[in-house]
Amino acid sequence: MTNPAPLAANPKVGFVSLGCPKALVDSERILTQLRVEGYDFSPSYEGADVVIVNTCGFLDSAREESLEAIGEAMNANGKVIVTGCMGAEPEKIRERHPNVLAITGPAQYESVLKAVHAAVPPSSNPLLDLVPAQGVKLTPKHYAYLKISEGCNNRCSFCIIPSLRGDLVSRPVGDVLREAENLVKGGVKELLVISQDTSAYGVDTKYATSEWRGRQVKSKFYDLAEALGELGVWVRMHYVYPYPHVDAAIELMAQGKILPYLDIPFQHASPNVLKAMKRPAAQEKTLERIHKWREICPDLTLRSTFIVGFPGETEEDFEFLLEWMEEAQLDRVGCFKYEAVQGAVANDLPNAVPEEVKEERWHRFMAAQQAISADRLQEKIGHTLDVMIDGENEDGGFIGRTAADAPEIDGVVFVESSKPLYAGQIVPVHITEADAYDLTGTAAA
Ligand code: SF4
Repeated sequence: MTNPAPLAANPKVGFVSLGCPKALVDSERILTQLRVEGYDFSPSYEGADVVIVNTCGFLDSAREESLEAIGEAMNANGKVIVTGCMGAEPEKIRERHPNVLAITGPAQYESVLKAVHAAVPPSSNPLLDLVPAQGVKLTPKHYAYLKISEGCNNRCSFCIIPSLRGDLVSRPVGDVLREAENLVKGGVKELLVISQDTSAYGVDTKYATSEWRGRQVKSKFYDLAEALGELGVWVRMHYVYPYPHVDAAIELMAQGKILPYLDIPFQHASPNVLKAMKRPAAQEKTLERIHKWREICPDLTLRSTFIVGFPGETEEDFEFLLEWMEEAQLDRVGCFKYEAVQGAVANDLPNAVPEEVKEERWHRFMAAQQAISADRLQEKIGHTLDVMIDGENEDGGFIGRTAADAPEIDGVVFVESSKPLYAGQIVPVHITEADAYDLTGTAAA
């Protein structure tokens, strides 16, 4: 009797994913396709036949980090394919790393796969059944990012994303909903909806409809939110601009269909600065809107990001922003000092703000916002909140998040429990302490 010929080992791909959640979704798509074709993944450079680096090119500091990551992969492995935002500037990469195998731009999945095939041909016997219907995910199993579109129709003066990724291209709503359903079937308990401008979803397709669950659904922000709300998991909306039609989605939040959470990158409040930034929906009366939203949905959590020290920002503009923040009482806020991004229109604006002034404004902004966030968290003490468990804590307790906390960017809840808890489980937690970012509490027995 002869032994069957041993199966050749599958080729192994190493993967480095840098940048934002949108880049992470690109990475997941590439990994899913590679797994379909029979590739395995290597956790180390040394064990990989080829390494893909998915880069971020948004800020100069992120580009530097990307170039360093490419260098590290070149030194350790030598066969490197570069993709992602920085891939839109191949000359910058070749200057530092002339021997990378291939460079492709953001969301160019096909080109990345071709480059991998050229470097290491796929195994002749792809194990198709190894791929779960929900694809390969880099995020923990209980939450997943759901990308609904690529590109952006806005032209914010500090941003080069439209020149890197092009105009808005919305995915058909049927595809998005089926992906969401597969993720939920695969055990996902929280869907994080992302894009460059979530509230503009479907503008490019004239809100084309798709069939889903026996009915026609429009590719529109509200309709998508409503349909996702039927899946019975947490649905969190990121990168929403306060266009008037967003108001209707607040009703869905008040009804408990999607999480009462809005991530709106306001970036500033002063009309002069917003105009110079060319921000979308800058004309909307945001403070009035925020008050109205909170009337409709008192549990609403608002997260945002801001830029201080934008060219032309005066002390009056900055003080306007601080007063606006006081009035808006946002729950979660990130703040960046303005940094020139190569190729951005804002670089040519007059009246650059000196570095020391940027620094000083940043500290004033953060101090003011920390006080607001801390007060808002204090109000949660004594309440019992639903907490989704993310995992165990080093001290033997557990870490989780409430509806007010998006993974990776917001705070957490440190949970004590007499019983074991599992990632993805939602438990009522009695909140006993709060600091400027995080909560502590005890799981109801
Ligand atoms: S909305 Fe503005 S900041 Fe956001 S991706 Fe589009 S152009 Fe860039």
